[in-house]
Amino acid sequence: MRLSFRTRIFVAAFAAAIISLLVGAALVSRSLARQTLERVERTLVAEARLAAELLASHAPATPVELDEEADRLGASAAARVTFIAPDGRVVGDSAEDGAELEALENHGQRPEVVDARRTGVGVLRRYSTTVEADLLYVAVTVRHPAIAVVRLAMPLTAIAEQQRTIRNATLAALAAALATGMFVALAFSAPLARRVRAIAQAARRYAEGDTSGMPADIGDDELGQVARALDSTATELSSRLDELARDRARMQAILSGMVEGVLVVDAQGRLELVNDAARRMLMLADQPGRRHYLEAVRHPGIAAQVGAALQGQEPAGLEVALPADTRTFVARSAPVRASSGNGAVLVLHDISDLRRADQVRRDFVANVSHELRTPLTAIRGYVEALIDDPPDDAERRGFLEIISRHTARMERLVRDLLRLARLDAGQEALDLAPCEMDTLLSGVITELQSTVDAKQQAIEVRIHPDAARVIADPAKLHDVMRNLVQNASNYSPERSRILLEANRVGDQVELRVSDEGPGLPESDFKRVFERFYRVDKSRSRDPGGTGLGLAIVRHLVELHGGRVDARNRPGGGASFTVRLPVRDAPASA
Ligand code: ADP
Repeated sequence: MRLSFRTRIFVAAFAAAIISLLVGAALVSRSLARQTLERVERTLVAEARLAAELLASHAPATPVELDEEADRLGASAAARVTFIAPDGRVVGDSAEDGAELEALENHGQRPEVVDARRTGVGVLRRYSTTVEADLLYVAVTVRHPAIAVVRLAMPLTAIAEQQRTIRNATLAALAAALATGMFVALAFSAPLARRVRAIAQAARRYAEGDTSGMPADIGDDELGQVARALDSTATELSSRLDELARDRARMQAILSGMVEGVLVVDAQGRLELVNDAARRMLMLADQPGRRHYLEAVRHPGIAAQVGAALQGQEPAGLEVALPADTRTFVARSAPVRASSGNGAVLVLHDISDLRRADQVRRDFVANVSHELRTPLTAIRGYVEALIDDPPDDAERRGFLEIISRHTARMERLVRDLLRLARLDAGQEALDLAPCEMDTLLSGVITELQSTVDAKQQAIEVRIHPDAARVIADPAKLHDVMRNLVQNASNYSPERSRILLEANRVGDQVELRVSDEGPGLPESDFKRVFERFYRVDKSRSRDPGGTGLGLAIVRHLVELHGGRVDARNRPGGGASFTVRLPVRDAPASA
């Protein structure tokens, strides 16, 4: 049976009250009983002495007078009075008369009488065969010729009656004290129980995560101190838990935001943590669970590395290409020392972009070297020819023209390379201004007029009124259009037509350059914008292109926030489209 706290306190206090009251009552009633008996004894002895004094001075003589005197004394002392003659005969008795008196046996050997004769007073409690009850006897010697001893007897029933009265009074007091005690115990246990209940409820709320549980008025005594200690522990604990949760969330955010794949295994080799990047790289399910790492890491090299880290070693980084993936990773594993046992952490670093950039850079250097070497070799050959074997004037002139052409080609190459380098480095800022499309295209045509005329090509311009004006960097847009028109002219046959169009499509301005040339293989639509990419290497060398023109075009268009792409016209010929976002006119400074 589970008793409530209040019941326990109440029962304990009440039991303590009952026990102390019972012990007290027992002691009091015992001592009162003893005192009553002693008082009765003392009174009886005093009365016996008084009777002895009376008899000594009064001196009745005849047997009848003696018995009457006994009756009188008995009535005034409220006790049985017996006169005993020196020979032990009973000569007077307040309880017996006449023949009965004479029939009484000799009292000379009664213990109290014997005591009285020896010491002057005899006191005894014993059963009386005469009255058949427990009696208290007091015998005193008398100076009288006919009476040797006067004896007073009182039945103990009277004393017992007095004692019972005392006990009853004590019991009544006990009952009253108990009732009061019960009330006091109840009154004291109620607030105590209420506080204990409040603390228990607060503790329950702590368990549910609510730390505002403890009432403020819990008191200052030991219970209050316990409550306060509990409260501060719970608050501290909850703030630690909050901190821990925040740390965990922060770590989760960092891990899932990381481009590196991170995988942590415990001492048993089971997955403890796998971030999103690692899941993607290792092609794992969304929730890999606590599988063994060998089930998740299929690459034998990486698995061996994690195994070594679990052994406490620090294996060197490993460059791997994961199956079914064109990407390259560097895997690094390290042991994790924790109190719960050693684990390992694997970090996968995707270096594909680095490798690709490296490759692009290598290709670029090779291309630049190659592009420079060709004209340089030619120049050197002709210069040496001029030095070694001076030809005639006409031939020399031809040689010098070739040298000049190659020098110009190198110059263009270096100029384009420098421009690309500037664009790469973000050193060319956009200088936006309203551009009249008509003026812009006329400028381009004028610049290329001689080239176009040389091939007897015709340029047609169609500008939609919505695209008559565009906000752009005029110089850069001029370079874009010049490059495209120059290519159109270069790669198209003589007497062909070049079409320049400007249209507004949604929130974009579309500038298109179309020609009637051979067009582009579909697979090269994207590649023609790469540096040094040429569709037909042998042919492209002639028109004097650097192979960098379209790369610069793409850079310039993207600087405007636009896009450029290459297509073939349905009827044949290439068509390059530049799409620029429509902008508001810049605020004039
Ligand atoms: P290039 O200086 O060689 O012209 P570009 O970057 O301007 O270099 O062009 C790259 C390649 O794209 C050219 O070599 C050529 O093969 C192809 N190309 C460019 N424009 C045209 C066009 N209008 N028609 C056909 N092919 C073209």
